[in-house]
Amino acid sequence: MIKQVKPVLQAKILLVEDDEDDYIITRSHLEDLTSFDSQLTWVTNSLDGLQKLAEGNFDVCLLDYQLGAETGLSLLKQAVDSGISTPIIMLTGQPDKQLDLQALEYGAADFLVKSELSEARFARAIRYALSRREFELERLNRLRLEADNRSKDRFLAHLSHELRTPLSSILGYTELLLESDHTKDARPELNTILNNGKHLLSLLNDILDLSKITANKLELRPEPTSLRHLMLDIYTLLNVTAIDNGLELTINSLTELPALITVDGTRLRQVLINLIYNAIKFTDAGSITVDLWVQQNKEKEMLWFRITDTGMGIAQRQLKDIFAPFTQIEDYLTRKKGGAGLGLAISSELIQRMGGSIDVASEEGKGSVFTFSLDPGDITDTQRKPLSMEPSISNTGGAHNKLALTGEVLIVDDLADLRKLSAHWIQATGASVDFAENGAEAIAKVKQKIASDSYYDLVLMDLHMPGIDGREATVAIRETGYHYPVVALTAAMAKGIRQQLTALGFNDVLSKPITKNQLYRALRCYLTGNAASVDNSAADSMPLHFLVVEDDTEAAQLMQILLESLGVKTTLAHSAEECMRELALLHRFDRILLDLGLPDSDGLQLIERIEHNYPDNIVIVVSGHEHDVAASGSSIVQQSLLKPITKQALNSLVLTCR
Ligand code: ADP
Repeated sequence: MIKQVKPVLQAKILLVEDDEDDYIITRSHLEDLTSFDSQLTWVTNSLDGLQKLAEGNFDVCLLDYQLGAETGLSLLKQAVDSGISTPIIMLTGQPDKQLDLQALEYGAADFLVKSELSEARFARAIRYALSRREFELERLNRLRLEADNRSKDRFLAHLSHELRTPLSSILGYTELLLESDHTKDARPELNTILNNGKHLLSLLNDILDLSKITANKLELRPEPTSLRHLMLDIYTLLNVTAIDNGLELTINSLTELPALITVDGTRLRQVLINLIYNAIKFTDAGSITVDLWVQQNKEKEMLWFRITDTGMGIAQRQLKDIFAPFTQIEDYLTRKKGGAGLGLAISSELIQRMGGSIDVASEEGKGSVFTFSLDPGDITDTQRKPLSMEPSISNTGGAHNKLALTGEVLIVDDLADLRKLSAHWIQATGASVDFAENGAEAIAKVKQKIASDSYYDLVLMDLHMPGIDGREATVAIRETGYHYPVVALTAAMAKGIRQQLTALGFNDVLSKPITKNQLYRALRCYLTGNAASVDNSAADSMPLHFLVVEDDTEAAQLMQILLESLGVKTTLAHSAEECMRELALLHRFDRILLDLGLPDSDGLQLIERIEHNYPDNIVIVVSGHEHDVAASGSSIVQQSLLKPITKQALNSLVLTCR
């Protein structure tokens, strides 16, 4: 029979006792206790006792009540008051109920009469004190961890701000250089910087999201959201990447879908982009299909999404780990695809918080299927339709026509029907068009404009034309000094084409047959900016005037360059005091763009000062981390912009001021 051996408890015991005989008796009783392996340290007065306790090396303290002229109670009180957590057991010669109560009141773990030292009661008292000590240590550890987490959160928020500010400068100046004529030869290198900067930013966002998830700080903000607009937006964004990689992206509805759902649109977008982008990343040839449907699940109707790819797939044994953070199937050293392995972990957490779940099925070499559901809110009475990704050509009265654009677009295409179709869509926005049937005519028309001191706001250039093709024509057009956008149209999308074309001087590529959405996305991107400067020259008598309050000189200067390129007069202030000085001179700016991390004042306090002294101003908070506008509690804060600030974001802001 195997004998059960009880684990022996280790106990470091401090005895504060002025009588040597009592020390010897206590030691021998302790030695008799077989359930403890005790290590006894003996001191004879309360000063030494306190010092030893302060060192914190003991599990239990046995404290004699009568220490010469003093009572052990005063040592007990001092120890407890100074935060010593070692449990203290008071020892006395005589039973005394009053004393017993007083000792416990002062914080003693127990009270023993010396004659009880030989009994089981003694063993119990020590065992109890030990478990109390363990409990106390756990509590202290928990407190320390909480404090660590709080400082980790603060550190991450700070780091995010610190990283976003220089990233703003890297991305912003690169974009500016890409727009400039002098950097034609360096376009491929500048695009590399831009792409890497953007990649860095997305990694930073992922790390911050994950830290918010672990700290339980990630909050969703469900709002009524148009499912169709959300899907169209995602399609427009990712179709370009899919085509660039030689893949076909399709989005289908398998049932009729609610027009409006109640979700956090930003977060749903993040999940879909991540899953579809992964599908593109891990597929070399074939297609990506996104299916959507509504299905009753017990008492609720749920919205389902399924993303199917024909890519490399995932091995069965690895499927279970795929949603864990930092998981990547390939070895880090042999990896060909970028990523931190955080996307799926974040997505699955977000999906759970949206009331749903995610699952994956995959076969190596054949492809993967990611399926997830979410709670779309109450959709019982919501109008339902199949999802249409292509707006019909005759549907010119849609939301896009709210686009009020100005400017002139040169459409270069050898096919008259396509010229007509693009013209029809462009004119519906308010912009005007001109045509060229081939490359030679396009070059001539651009030169003609320049000669008359004018310009096209945008050139839409078909690549495949007889004679001088779109590539040659664009190179020649750039040589004339024309620096406005040229967007390529091509049916032959192949891997790397975007990079090739940007190197030649194109700003963007659209795949043929062109859809209205694609075209409007390009128009919105390239014409609104020009519309702002056109408006601006018309309204020269009243230019907008912004105050930028930012302590980072480079970030401030970049903001000034970007705003001034949009026709906004910009004054810079590098501190709260400079900001107040500028306000004292002018009293009101059209907008104050305010970075919250200033060297001489808390940003929120500065907002209060502005609100109190110059209440007519509108403040836009510019922040390195997400700032809840409502949390500032100020009515003059209108919105917040997250760094890095792009020209597009500033342009939208400028348009709202006019
Ligand atoms: P990342 O893509 O940034 O590495 P994710 O969390 O999004 O991180 O994905 C984790 C890993 O799961 C990827 O590195 C890849 O190995 C695998 N994976 C994700 N999606 C797919 C897919 N559609 N096909 C094949 N492998 C995939």
